[in-house]
Amino acid sequence: MTSFLEIPAVPGSLRQMNRLTVLRLLRKFGPITKPALAEYSGISRPTITKLVDELEEQSLAECVGITAPTASGGKPGALYRFNAEGVQSAGVFLTVDTVRVALVNGNGRVLGRLECPLGLDRRPEPVINAIVETLQELLTSLQITLSQLLGIGVGMPGLTSFATGVVHFAPHFPQWQDVPVRDLLKARLGIEVWVDNDCHVQALAERHFGAGQSCTDFVSVESGIGISAAFYLQDTLYRGVGGTAGEIGHMTIQEDGPLCECGNRGCWETLAATTWMVEQACQSGQATWLPLPTGAHVEDWAMTTREPDVMNTLAHAIFRAAQEGHPEAIDLVRQHAMHFGVGLATIINTLNPQCIIIWGDSMKGGNLFLEAVRTVVRQRALRRPRDMCTIIFSSFAQDVGVIGAASLVIDALFTHYQPAS
Ligand SMILES: [Zn+2]
Repeated sequence: MTSFLEIPAVPGSLRQMNRLTVLRLLRKFGPITKPALAEYSGISRPTITKLVDELEEQSLAECVGITAPTASGGKPGALYRFNAEGVQSAGVFLTVDTVRVALVNGNGRVLGRLECPLGLDRRPEPVINAIVETLQELLTSLQITLSQLLGIGVGMPGLTSFATGVVHFAPHFPQWQDVPVRDLLKARLGIEVWVDNDCHVQALAERHFGAGQSCTDFVSVESGIGISAAFYLQDTLYRGVGGTAGEIGHMTIQEDGPLCECGNRGCWETLAATTWMVEQACQSGQATWLPLPTGAHVEDWAMTTREPDVMNTLAHAIFRAAQEGHPEAIDLVRQHAMHFGVGLATIINTLNPQCIIIWGDSMKGGNLFLEAVRTVVRQRALRRPRDMCTIIFSSFAQDVGVIGAASLVIDALFTHYQPAS
């Protein structure tokens, strides 16, 4: 059920529902008086007073002033709003080779960050240890204790169940099978932990703090050495029944196309990921500006070297060369954008979103990439959904992963989670 304020009802006790309603109103309309909260919500004034006082005690609401006296002699009233500074959560974001952690406030502002390279041993236990140690080092440096945190959000690469906090499969961590990351971290750290897929947390960051703040229906798409997406539909992150929704890079767009790492042929990402662009550059044998190892034969080397960090380095070199005006690099970026745009046209036709937010390494292609994507979408998508959809880059210059991970905590706060007083 949706109220006239377009705030969906939440499950739970009446008291909890009222508390969440007030918290949402404070964030959406604050600064706001208690009588206005009662009027908007339909909750009685005594209950509103009790709930606001309770939220203030929990540092989730703050009084920021009083209203001016009215002309008719009405009494001034105290103004309240959501206290973003009173919320501190930790965001943990795992990439192929790095663990990133940050302390984030209720407005998505990063208060401190730390990044640590993963060792060569990528089995679950050493990686969990690296997460715990990096987080503890950050908190110590900021003089914050774990008990001061509202919770910890974790963004993981691979197939992850948000409901259970289990990472079922991670392509660059071959020994990870059904790892209960949430429970392992909770046991080690003793506070609430939420775990989700990296693309899903990015979409939450956009919805709460980024380019998706004014959208109820958008798709965020990561374009890098792989492609994946998150669908934010009817103001809810759509995770699918098992939490794996968004693996759109493995949508077949060419039946007899190149073999994909997933075992299928002609997946979208075999043609549209930055890896494709790198392979084309190497196979042409003419990309003398690529930073290849001394003495490497580009054709052989391109076929045998597919390490993510190497592929990223070469993709960045192509984007850089295109920005510097190298014709072959410009052509490669345009082709990369064209293949990527073909997939976006399908998303637009299928879901009719307000907005598509692109993030990931392809952003290094700048306007050259973005305009080429928009052009191919104009050519291929159905007119009505196409005209209703804007295609933009993510507004996050950095930290999107950790802010997104911390957004899991913020999201829980505004949907179901009640921290201890
Ligand atoms: Zn595939």
